Amino acid sequence: MQSSKHGLRCAFCNAKLHTKVMDFGEVALAGGFLSPNGFQKETFYPLRLFYCEQCYGLQVVDKVDAAELFQDYFYFSSSINTLKNHFKNYATEVVSRFLKKPLNDAKVLEFGCNDGVLLRPLADLKIGTVIGVDPAANVVKTINDPRIKIVNSFFNLATAKEVISQFGKVDMVIANNVYAHISDMQDVTWAIHEVLNEEGVFIFEVHYLGKMMDELQYDMIYHEHLYYHSLLSLKKHFERYRMLIFDVEPVSTHAGSMRYYVCKEGSENANNLTQAVQTLANEEIERGYNRKETFLNFSTQVNNTKLELMALIDRLKDSGKSIVGYGASGRANTLIQYCGLGQQHLDYVVDDAPIKQGFYTPNSHLLIRPSTALESRNPPDYVLIFAWSFLEEIMLRSSTYLRNGGKFIIPLPKVKIISAIGEQGVDQI
Ligand SMILES: [Zn+2]
Repeated sequence: MQSSKHGLRCAFCNAKLHTKVMDFGEVALAGGFLSPNGFQKETFYPLRLFYCEQCYGLQVVDKVDAAELFQDYFYFSSSINTLKNHFKNYATEVVSRFLKKPLNDAKVLEFGCNDGVLLRPLADLKIGTVIGVDPAANVVKTINDPRIKIVNSFFNLATAKEVISQFGKVDMVIANNVYAHISDMQDVTWAIHEVLNEEGVFIFEVHYLGKMMDELQYDMIYHEHLYYHSLLSLKKHFERYRMLIFDVEPVSTHAGSMRYYVCKEGSENANNLTQAVQTLANEEIERGYNRKETFLNFSTQVNNTKLELMALIDRLKDSGKSIVGYGASGRANTLIQYCGLGQQHLDYVVDDAPIKQGFYTPNSHLLIRPSTALESRNPPDYVLIFAWSFLEEIMLRSSTYLRNGGKFIIPLPKVKIISAIGEQGVDQI
């Protein structure tokens, strides 16, 4: 935590933080699924989101030891086919756009490389030196490809220096879906600056703040997800490292993510700022991402959806209805804990990942069952859809449940009910 007797400090610019946007109280880690013998020793942490008026950085200020967050890492990118194709195209695109020298002499480093889903296509393109940095030992172990050099560690200034001594400076640094998760932003950004050569490019994809603001996605907020980047905040961030964002594009396959292209001041790319950067910056100013009132308003709206959801659930419980949840994810756990949902509201949660079934959700201790439970002899009257951004897919999978009279409750961005005959407002219940 960036706190001292002087109060909370911004992770980006060290300014004092004055604007608290959200306070979740003491919560369990969103990824902390557990079995009943873990109930007694479950640990709770504060979770607060602050906005920095100096640099526009939106951030979780309560940091949990990385070792605790990453000890059980189950996510393997290559197991998802759409991701595989996305990264294959990604590799082709960035290599043809930025690597001018003979590819055999080129050096590319990716941190947070996971199981090599991007490194493999880079190696296929015959890049001379492909380096992957990742702290999850069980994940990088699966790469097992002699063309890829693995550095099994967190990426920081010390690691950057080690990489330079072994391989020299690199032409490209890539980081996908990790730039929001790093505890020490300042150190990692110096590391990027250090390891890149003068004409080098840093490219990263990360969840975009705009999506969260538009859809009231407060369920994205948890300890693993420390920063909620806007272009305005990132622009100011990189300026402090004598770097700049020269291009930006929305990521089509990953709705709600943005890809940023960063170079050092004085490099050739710095003279070729794209219109997209200016357009998005103007849009963000219009939306007020540089004003604290915008975020305080977001917080009020979030609180209103919680009150609306809980009023509906209380009404349903009072009339004897049964309700279960759908999707036992980290996002679900944030929503569950923020709304104060528990066993008095939900009988259980369904999830199709076998690895989670039989475990319980953190703090609320709801049993996780396969989604076939919805088609049992005793189906619930209502299903609260935590994985609401995958609604279409869930509706297809649960068509029998809906046809038999089951109903969905959608918690965000607006509380509503969905049944086989269509949508209903909550006031009709
Ligand atoms: Zn700041």
